[in-house]
Amino acid sequence: MNRLIDILNFRTYDEDENYTDKPQITVGSIVLGVLLRLFILLIASLFVFKYFPVLYDNTWVLLLAIWFLVIYPAYRGYTNYYKRIDKMQSSTLCGSCKHFEHSSQLCRVYDEHVSQNHIPCEGDSWEPK
Ligand code: SF4
Repeated sequence: MNRLIDILNFRTYDEDENYTDKPQITVGSIVLGVLLRLFILLIASLFVFKYFPVLYDNTWVLLLAIWFLVIYPAYRGYTNYYKRIDKMQSSTLCGSCKHFEHSSQLCRVYDEHVSQNHIPCEGDSWEPK
């Protein structure tokens, strides 16, 4: 349940994530957060439009709500995520390796998450970008 709340809230920058092999926030979780928020907002708007039909003429309110409740928070979440990954990239061996996939904090060769204190190949498979 806490994980779902984190995803919905686009949990902010947390440097501890750089030290775990199981990152909670990835690009995928941000996309999932967008879809969940969009789903909740659209369901809520169905009820609102049902009881306030006059709002059909003002659908821009829904567009504003999507911007402020979905797109902007997701953008902030992604920015925070990117800052964290950027910091990890500059301070780990994997960050300079061509096999590192920053969108999922993953090593493509070993198919494992990497972190500040976990380099799956221990440097053996490192190749420059
Ligand atoms: S090959 Fe090694 S150095 Fe490169 S990303 Fe994978 S674990 Fe990191």
